[in-house]
Amino acid sequence: MSDAVEVAIVGAGPYGLSLGAHLRKAGVSVRQFGLPMQLWRAFMPEGMFLKSQGFASNLSDPDGTHTLEAFCQATGRPYASYGLPVPLDTFVAYGQWFRAELVPDIEEVLVTDVARRDGGFELSLANSEQVRARKVVVAIGVEHFAYVPGPLSALPDTVCTHASAHTDLSVFRDRDVVVVGAGQSALESAALLHENGAKVTLVARKDKIRWNGVPLNPERPPLQRLREPESGLGSGWATWFYSNHPDWFRHLPRSTRVYRARTALGPAGASWLRTRVEGQFPTLTGLSVTSAKADGDGVRLGLAGSDGSTRELAADHVIAGTGYRTDLARLSFLGTQVRSGLKTVAGTGSSVVGRDYQTSIPGLYVIGPAVAPTMGPVMRFVFGSEHAATTVARQLAGSAVSRSPAAVTAGR
Ligand SMILES: Cc1cc2nc3c(=O)[nH]c(=O)nc-3n(C[C@H](O)[C@H](O)[C@H](O)COP(=O)(O)OP(=O)(O)OC[C@H]3O[C@@H](n4cnc5c(N)ncnc54)[C@H](O)[C@@H]3O)c2cc1C
Repeated sequence: MSDAVEVAIVGAGPYGLSLGAHLRKAGVSVRQFGLPMQLWRAFMPEGMFLKSQGFASNLSDPDGTHTLEAFCQATGRPYASYGLPVPLDTFVAYGQWFRAELVPDIEEVLVTDVARRDGGFELSLANSEQVRARKVVVAIGVEHFAYVPGPLSALPDTVCTHASAHTDLSVFRDRDVVVVGAGQSALESAALLHENGAKVTLVARKDKIRWNGVPLNPERPPLQRLREPESGLGSGWATWFYSNHPDWFRHLPRSTRVYRARTALGPAGASWLRTRVEGQFPTLTGLSVTSAKADGDGVRLGLAGSDGSTRELAADHVIAGTGYRTDLARLSFLGTQVRSGLKTVAGTGSSVVGRDYQTSIPGLYVIGPAVAPTMGPVMRFVFGSEHAATTVARQLAGSAVSRSPAAVTAGR
């Protein structure tokens, strides 16, 4: 593979951008493909705020100079490490600034196929180009894995959509909209719909909507900090463990990892969202959607309670705020030969990876939400990009054959 690039990165979200910054600094020859910050630009509603705190919303760069705080300072935007929700448009602009400063040569094209070739890989791009690479890192986030539960999945998208289908919720003004779900995305979509003039009803399976507490004061007395440490994903010792030790998490028994990766830290709404939901519109809890059918221009849902009660609900539209479920078997751009060689964590569609994020196919790495059942819930958050990017960069820079003179001189 004499004409091969050392590393191809597939993806340009927080994980891909972070890894790109580290590898370039280390002098590794890289080509990177994807649409920068696409999930955040095209699959989230205008007016949204991040749930993660400011300090936990940094992309990772080798010098630690390109933090969200540095960006906000440079552009005159308000910023606080704790307690000031980060607006979506600020985070998108931050990602674009990070890209322009540290990874300007990303190629804004999608990968349509990845195949094993001559001990490495051959990637096909949507512009018909073929690229050879010795190693491939897949950092494709969640956009391919929107999950719509059983009865809703059979409805046409004229009456039922996943929350990721909407950036402008004002199109639902004056319409009856049911939002299904109890996590941050469902709760915030419902609040934004209501504030944009829609007639909203929230339906949740849980008996009670859970809300996160307000962030703890970082200056609180040492004993309190010891009792309940604050970390990237929130407060408490379990959360501290998930936030800071993906490398320990991977040694837990498989069933524990799978369960924790899915259930830790959710579903719950951010503390600042609570007053925008409670008392603002009807919230029906303890009810599952058991049937759904299109009815004229609208939709009719059958709901069942855990006590055996049933009821019907009619609306113009249903929005499924029901999250994402990784299933690498659905990634058609990973050719059949690659998909069939990928070992997955039993009970999930997520790839098994080693401590260096390498999959069962030598030279193929996966980082981000797709490896949460191995590395833990931190992979579902921007905060996990630090561990993933630094670990993979160390591994790949060490084995890189074509390294820049600057990197070699610097002893990297
Ligand atoms: C509504 C919502 C709110 C969220 N809020 C927060 C929050 O407040 N804080 C937090 O930490 N996390 C939040 N998350 C989680 C968030 O998804 C992850 O933290 C983060 O986006 C993961 O980054 P990533 O780089 O893995 O993937 P993504 O950001 O999803 O980026 C994926 C990249 O892959 C590229 N790609 C996909 N397919 C291809 C292909 N075939 N070829 C080339 N490129 C491809 C895309 O173009 C994109 O560049 C939220 C998620 C959602 C859905």
